Amino acid sequence: MVTIPLRIGGHAADGARVRDVRSPFDGGVVHRVAVAGPEHLERALVAAVAAVAPMEALAGYARAAALERAAALLAERASLFASVICAEGGKPIRYAKGEVERAIRTLEASAAEAVRLDGDAPALDSAPQGAGRFAVVRRHPLGVVAAITPFNFPLNLACHKVGPALAAGNAVVLKPSERTPATGLLLGALLDECGLPAGAVNVVVGDDPALGARLVEDPRPAAVSFTGSPAVGWALRARAGTKRVTLELGGNAAVVVDRSADLEDAASRLADAAFAHAGQVCISVQRVFVHRDVHARFRALFLAKIASDVRAGDPTDPLVTIGPMITAEAVDRVEAWVAAAQARGARVTRFGERRGGVLPAIVVEGAPLDADVHRREVFGPVVTLDPVDSFAEGLARADDSEFGLQAAVFTADLGAALEAERRLTVGAVIVNDAPTFRVDTMPYGGEKASGLGREGVAHAVRSFTRERLLVIRT
Ligand code: NAD
Repeated sequence: MVTIPLRIGGHAADGARVRDVRSPFDGGVVHRVAVAGPEHLERALVAAVAAVAPMEALAGYARAAALERAAALLAERASLFASVICAEGGKPIRYAKGEVERAIRTLEASAAEAVRLDGDAPALDSAPQGAGRFAVVRRHPLGVVAAITPFNFPLNLACHKVGPALAAGNAVVLKPSERTPATGLLLGALLDECGLPAGAVNVVVGDDPALGARLVEDPRPAAVSFTGSPAVGWALRARAGTKRVTLELGGNAAVVVDRSADLEDAASRLADAAFAHAGQVCISVQRVFVHRDVHARFRALFLAKIASDVRAGDPTDPLVTIGPMITAEAVDRVEAWVAAAQARGARVTRFGERRGGVLPAIVVEGAPLDADVHRREVFGPVVTLDPVDSFAEGLARADDSEFGLQAAVFTADLGAALEAERRLTVGAVIVNDAPTFRVDTMPYGGEKASGLGREGVAHAVRSFTRERLLVIRT
């Protein structure tokens, strides 16, 4: 079995030791990876710093060409990446393939942005002392960007950081999740083939969370871009000092189904979006509020759609939509939250039995408002379903959350759609589709505990630059 090495300074590098990576589905060893210790992180940072000047000197067209090459190589290796994502992350192969397709487009969009880094030319003659002055705002790379990524989209979310950081002329140290290390390491190897200066991208994975904390605290990165859980993200921000920090964190996405909605369409879209990848998606549908007038009909359609379309099992099966949860602890946590809601009077419908790490689709109705399945991020194949007396009540319930990533409403009423956009404290309101909707170029990010700043390729590129004003007395 091959050992997948770290990537430091443009080369493969051994780690402190080698570790088996096991399938979350059957526990079998799927590959081995090198594990970084503090000394490897140090070497990665030194390599990244050495790449700052060559990256700054690289013209836009050359950065774009390297990213286009990366996208082309990823397209060539698409089936390898999909099978690695499926094997180590337990992501059903149909979604793993979809993630690779998205990552290719994320890199292509990054290439396009690399040649669009323009600035403004603000007029300064708003006051007498500004007359006879010419001004221009230019964008410069930050230097070294630290990128930390989660297990659930190990490729595309890494590309959302690395692609824009390189497009803007930075060097990167990427620390992927220890649960899905090989995907990030293989991405690093691929980027080393793209004609970038040595050390433009360095990839280290460890076993110890302290590796991420060390990267965030180190003075050399100028920016930290983190995607992961709220607890870890906010704690890391507190350790980041004056660095620029972007946080893409979790949520408990809500949906309001209005009485004017196309119920069949809503039921079908939500049945898929609530359970894909076992609900281990930050914008997975978690809470559904349905106008009481149409609740019974929607409920029947929704449950029928889950029964017919959602399938739990082996993630390598192309028909499976729910694969394993990432860890046994995650399964136990989700089961405990569902049991706690049930003990307090909720009705629970399970679409099958638990098999090892694979949970069935679970619908929870009538859970108390303060139950964990409502309040916290379930991050599992669980959705709550409750009637509301009015669309306005649905919006209020949807917004009653410490999180605010994305939300959705199904309605035929334009006024209701606009009201939702006004009322909901989230990064995006999706009308007539699931809150899980995302195109990789759209601005994306959360409010409240769900994050800080925005990704989406153009936004991320700008976040990895510093603006500098040049004023010339003419
Ligand atoms: P996680 O927070 O456990 O891990 C994320 C990253 O942080 C990993 O690289 C991990 O190694 C590292 N890490 C973990 N503990 C650390 C610590 N104490 N110090 C430093 N680094 C540490 O998250 P996860 O389980 O991999 O991913 C699931 C979470 O990510 C969910 O909350 C989900 O909603 C969120 N997520 C958000 C988005 C988004 O775009 N908003 C996308 C995907 C996932």
